[in-house]
Amino acid sequence: MKVNIIGAGLAGCEAAWQLAEKGIEVYLYEKKKIQKNEIQTLETFGELVCSNTFRSLSTQNAVGILKKELKLLNSFILDCAFKTQIPSDDALAVDRKAFSDLVDQKIRSHKNIKVFEEEFLDLNTQEIVLIASGPLCSQEFKMQLEKLLGKQKLFYLDASAPIIEKQSIDFSKVYYKSRYKNDNSYICIPLNEKEFSIFHNKLVNANTVNLKDFEQEIFFRGCQPIEQLAKNSKKILLKSAMSPNGLENFDGIMPYSAVQLRRDDAMDNLYNMVGFQTNIIWKEQKQIFSSLPGLENAVFRRFGVMHKNSFINSPKILNNKLQMMRKKNIFFAGQITGVEGYIESFASGLVASRGILSYINQSEFIAFPEDTILGSLISYITNPKHKKLKPMKSNMGLVKIDPIMSFNSKEEKNSYIYKNALNKIKSFI
Ligand SMILES: Cc1cc2nc3c(=O)[nH]c(=O)nc-3n(C[C@H](O)[C@H](O)[C@H](O)COP(=O)(O)OP(=O)(O)OC[C@H]3O[C@@H](n4cnc5c(N)ncnc54)[C@H](O)[C@@H]3O)c2cc1C
Repeated sequence: MKVNIIGAGLAGCEAAWQLAEKGIEVYLYEKKKIQKNEIQTLETFGELVCSNTFRSLSTQNAVGILKKELKLLNSFILDCAFKTQIPSDDALAVDRKAFSDLVDQKIRSHKNIKVFEEEFLDLNTQEIVLIASGPLCSQEFKMQLEKLLGKQKLFYLDASAPIIEKQSIDFSKVYYKSRYKNDNSYICIPLNEKEFSIFHNKLVNANTVNLKDFEQEIFFRGCQPIEQLAKNSKKILLKSAMSPNGLENFDGIMPYSAVQLRRDDAMDNLYNMVGFQTNIIWKEQKQIFSSLPGLENAVFRRFGVMHKNSFINSPKILNNKLQMMRKKNIFFAGQITGVEGYIESFASGLVASRGILSYINQSEFIAFPEDTILGSLISYITNPKHKKLKPMKSNMGLVKIDPIMSFNSKEEKNSYIYKNALNKIKSFI
């Protein structure tokens, strides 16, 4: 049986290698030789389009633990990264060109992989297809994707607000309150006039990320960054993301202004700042948002971003094999599934390759345990309880932990997650 893979990026190459090693014939399609996207410069596969690091190696970090899990799972891309590693404190940095050359050479010389340097467009096929086309695909391919997805939209812009770990919020200063009904899925941060004014001033003066030329056009179409609302006027901010309307406290007193946090995950660990999509640089986001009452020690699991990024609403489209629920011969992997980051992208390629193998062999697919970093990320992006996916990096806040467990420190909790995750991956293998 043959598998077509669209895209020789990080996810596509990982999946191609894993399948080829299992004796599956892989047809790998890559169009960059004839048409590069806005950020590609190299001719070779597995191109790192921006930073040359795969982030931290520390096992106090989700992304560090994910590397340990992927090593146990024999990840191809991770192996290429270690073979081309250059010194960089606690990060896994690589020589960008040597890395891509190695991926390219190994993929092209694998006896079970046939490379086609052309754009793949036929998503109507009955053959097995893995779509690993990345976050910046061509106009024509997008049209094919939209046809395939039907009612489910393809998103082109990631406009996400910061996400905070619930445990790190000081509940003596905030309260549960939603605007329209009484439920526990919103947390309200009340501000008095002086606090609002100081906060407004910080937003107005914050430093923002320089957008790339191709990203300039996509903003200001009804989805404005919070700092832009603040610059427009205090009044606009008070009528939109920081409106106090309907957010009275238990004594019935309405604050001058309020920030709402909305529950973000099925496990109730994470909360996002409603309406706070932003381009403020990450270091300043931490300073500014931690100045809100109750967020002084907030752990930010993701900062706000606004950038061009095509992704699908995976919870409505994919199962945990990363297979389309509606069209079983089609699989997805990489940034387009809503995972975010180099390592998350190729990790999802590894998961999809296992999904494809179980489909070909008609064997049972065993999902990665949710108390591993990999399993928790895949569960997050495919959990049908999530109405609209927000692209996500691996993080400790996603990991399922037995509620009876208690820890004396963050380090102790992280060490537990690490040891437990590796044991789970070992027994999984
Ligand atoms: C501007 C930008 C900067 C980023 N910077 C970072 C960063 O610094 N660190 C980080 O961790 N993550 C970063 N990311 C996020 C993400 O990790 C990368 O985009 C990563 O490359 C995604 O891997 P992928 O395998 O999903 O897609 P890609 O690596 O983009 O690979 C997809 C491949 O598919 C090919 N392709 C697309 N359509 C077709 C088709 N129809 N037929 C044939 N070939 C096709 C493309 O040419 C491409 O080579 C960035 C994303 C963007 C958009």
